[in-house]
Amino acid sequence: MSTGTSKTGTTTQVHETSGGTVLREGAFGNARGLVCRECGATQPLGPHYACLECFGPLEIAYDFPEVTREQIEAGPRNIWRYKALLPVPDDIESSPNTEPGFTRLLWAENLGRELGITTLWVKDDSTNPTNSFKDRVVACALSAAVEFGSKVFACPSTGNLANAVAAAGARAGIKTVVFIPSNLEHPKQVNSAIFTDSLVAVEGNYDDVNRLASEIAGEEDGWAFVNVNVRPFYAEGSKTLGYEIAEQLGWRLPDQIVIPVASGSQLTKVDKAFQELIKLGLVEDKPYRVFGAQAEGCGPVATAFKAGVDAIRPVKPDTIAKSLAIGNPADGIYVLDIARRTSGAVEEVDDDAIRDAIVLLARTEGIFTETAGGTTVAVLKKLVETGQLDPDLETVVINTGHGLKTLDAVSGRVAPAATIAPTYDAFAASGIV
Ligand SMILES: *Cc1c(COP(=O)(O)O)cnc(C)c1O
Ligand SMILES: [Zn+2]
Repeated sequence: MSTGTSKTGTTTQVHETSGGTVLREGAFGNARGLVCRECGATQPLGPHYACLECFGPLEIAYDFPEVTREQIEAGPRNIWRYKALLPVPDDIESSPNTEPGFTRLLWAENLGRELGITTLWVKDDSTNPTNSFKDRVVACALSAAVEFGSKVFACPSTGNLANAVAAAGARAGIKTVVFIPSNLEHPKQVNSAIFTDSLVAVEGNYDDVNRLASEIAGEEDGWAFVNVNVRPFYAEGSKTLGYEIAEQLGWRLPDQIVIPVASGSQLTKVDKAFQELIKLGLVEDKPYRVFGAQAEGCGPVATAFKAGVDAIRPVKPDTIAKSLAIGNPADGIYVLDIARRTSGAVEEVDDDAIRDAIVLLARTEGIFTETAGGTTVAVLKKLVETGQLDPDLETVVINTGHGLKTLDAVSGRVAPAATIAPTYDAFAASGIV
């Protein structure tokens, strides 16, 4: 890092990455540097993800200026309204991106009645540009990749991330290479291949794909793997879910929130967002409880939570919730910390409960969720039934993806009620009314 002088004459810092790329002044907005979550050691901003002292994960630290509700409300109806709180430049809106976020927060009166919850909201992230919450994190990773001068935009993915990376790269005009487990749902494969000519199906599970990606990142120069070597920047995108929920509730925090857990990144960042809003004085400080949702076929964090232990034992995933099928979750230990600190929990449900919950959400609220959302709604139901979640407190459940991507999961449950000849008599005899 060297020191330079800006146009206004104040002393500013010019950062140089390990690859020698000189970063634009303000390339990362109010971000100040990278800090290790384990030992607190700091590093300058760059395409780094592991602490030089202890190999712990790095995250972004900021020097926030004063940020007001009015400033945010005057911003665009996408995640860039929160750009002052993200590691992105002030002119982020002018670089081509998919403009994700500001999705609906729906009052789920019918589902609430069904589950016995007084006040329930669904944060519906299935309406993002590629129909999952991953567009948020990818938009932040893309900004970083562009600032680092990366020539390839890549990821190992359980499906939705590949869709989001491929689409964002197409729009930005950057080459993309996306890696998925070869047994992934067909719609998710098509949803990537439509945007990129470099979809790579790997014979193995997500953890194998992830290992391969780390190896490639080490061998090849100029590759930005969104969730590997630019992970600290990527992960910050999930904070926008927390900001939006608070803003859409009228600048206050919910009492309880239920969030799906794959790597655990989203859950930890929603908590970080709530903490930042409190520190910035944008919402009133109050207790809130964070609950994590996993599938039984891949529930290493839920298992550790219930056992009351700190270490997470990796598992071999076997569940229909493929977007949550990470057997060795990078942020699992932080999920445990947050669930315990906030008097929440991490719970798991089986595949049948996931299928039932997909149908339940559709029939009560008109929202078609994928298996991850089925997992989250099923866990919400189980939390009420087991008395872990207070049904009289205001609760938000996050729907992170769209059901059209996992049609097979429910194709055995829903079908035409009758197939009839095109006559009134046939209809009358069908028993439909
Ligand atoms: C990736 C993903 C998640 C969870 O992601 P984390 O790795 O825990 O941040 C949840 N839902 C869907 C649909 C996803 O694609
Ligand atoms: Zn460290």
